[in-house]
Amino acid sequence: MSDGAYERRLLIDGELDEASGGATFENLNPATEAVLGVVADGTRADMERAVAAARRAFDTSTWATDRELRARCLLQLQAALEAEREQIRSELVAEVGCPVLTTYGPQLDAPLAEALRWPAEMIEQFRWERSLGPKDPFGMGSFTEREVWKEPVGVVGVIVPWNFPLEITLNKLGPVLAMGNTCVIKPAPDTPFNATRLGRLIAEHTDIPPGVVNIVTSSDHLVGEVLSTSPLVDMVAFTGSTATGRRIMAAASETLKPVFLELGGKSINLVLDDADLAAVVPSAAMVCFHAGQGCAMPTRLLVPRSRYDECVELVTGGFATMPYGDPTDASNFMGPLISARQRERVLGYIEQGKAEGARLVCGGGIPEHLPTGFFVEPTLFVDVDNTTTIAQEEIFGPVLVVTPFDDDDDAVRIANESLYGLSGMITSGDLDRAKAVARRIRTGTMGINGGIWYGADAPFGGYKQSGIGRQCGIEGLEIFTETKTVGWPAPPT
Ligand code: NAD
Repeated sequence: MSDGAYERRLLIDGELDEASGGATFENLNPATEAVLGVVADGTRADMERAVAAARRAFDTSTWATDRELRARCLLQLQAALEAEREQIRSELVAEVGCPVLTTYGPQLDAPLAEALRWPAEMIEQFRWERSLGPKDPFGMGSFTEREVWKEPVGVVGVIVPWNFPLEITLNKLGPVLAMGNTCVIKPAPDTPFNATRLGRLIAEHTDIPPGVVNIVTSSDHLVGEVLSTSPLVDMVAFTGSTATGRRIMAAASETLKPVFLELGGKSINLVLDDADLAAVVPSAAMVCFHAGQGCAMPTRLLVPRSRYDECVELVTGGFATMPYGDPTDASNFMGPLISARQRERVLGYIEQGKAEGARLVCGGGIPEHLPTGFFVEPTLFVDVDNTTTIAQEEIFGPVLVVTPFDDDDDAVRIANESLYGLSGMITSGDLDRAKAVARRIRTGTMGINGGIWYGADAPFGGYKQSGIGRQCGIEGLEIFTETKTVGWPAPPT
């Protein structure tokens, strides 16, 4: 049953259902610590039932081959989501604790505009087949006509984190379905309601056949492990921490499943010495947007020594006056962290930064005026050595570290001195110079002079330990396909 405004049921094989055994778990509002409601606490048995349903739907329905049906269903789901846009907005603010400001961009409106629509449109345009032309492969006079066909991978396990839950779900679901796959979605335990709502909309407002999309919420992270280990699942698409990504990859290796991983980051905000420093203050503040809980946020500010003091003074001013607090207040740039556990983790990193000798110039604790909710002050460390923990590890909180550099070569060296390679920003008065530096940085996306690379048509993902594969764009469609090469005797010429 739905729980007031919030849907609590799983979606398995086309049915909205309680968890087996009827267990539920609570979903908290991280800004108020109040219980919003309860949601089905799915078990391994529920997950296995969902996987079996997805397998059956892939193997026995026309979903994989009926492109017209897929496009229609994606657009039906798009319409259903749009019809509940304002309820979804409030729900996201309540369960994610994200400032409502973020929902007008990446948290809701941006993905709602195109995450399903673009893949739906691409179904017709996608190059499903290409000819290689005739060939006599072994030089024996047997000419063969050859083609390459793109086909769905099969059953995809979709595992989602809590920071931008609907955005990430939709940016996976659109391509997964457009390419003809079926799936089981495992939302993060901290943010289940956007996913259960999606399940209800699919069941009640679309022609998506039973079993094509299944959604299993659970308080137990390891219920998601069924998706990595089950021989009935063909691929895992995961967004989350690098540590969990490693574990999923190891578990998936038993069945040699391909894994598509969107992981952590420690991205740079690089200011070249010819930059307009006024532009740096808002870009530095991006670390506090949604309290730093974004994988692609530029969390390392690299500043030329020649302009270091000037830049630090400007950024300190920006941090000291940052509006934050109640996420429902549209004037706030930052809300709480997702949980008490996450707040402890962030505070632990702040202590580590102090112990490692970085200079704390702003924030560093729990704000006195916000005793309820999982808030941390906007925090700025300067004079940070890039080899220290706070410059190397993903903090996932409103913490910016500032590191000086000598020249462009030194900046590139520091930028690349990281296990991660997800995103980044460069500011320079000279676009060509900025592009030349961007080409030397090993990262999956880069914003130059405030440019925003985001979009359903724009591949997103990481180099190095920030991930494997790309979400969105043509690359993000192809990743959910298999490739079949076929040949038949060429007609005599
Ligand atoms: P997490 O890795 O703890 O959990 C992510 C999801 O994986 C959750 O649904 C969780 O229940 C599930 N999970 C945990 N253990 C699992 C297991 N063994 N098998 C299967 N599923 C399992 O991450 P989080 O704390 O929810 O999210 C924050 C992290 O996500 C940050 O590191 C952030 O950088 C990363 N992130 C990356 C991107 C990206 O696109 N690169 C986007 C958003 C967040």
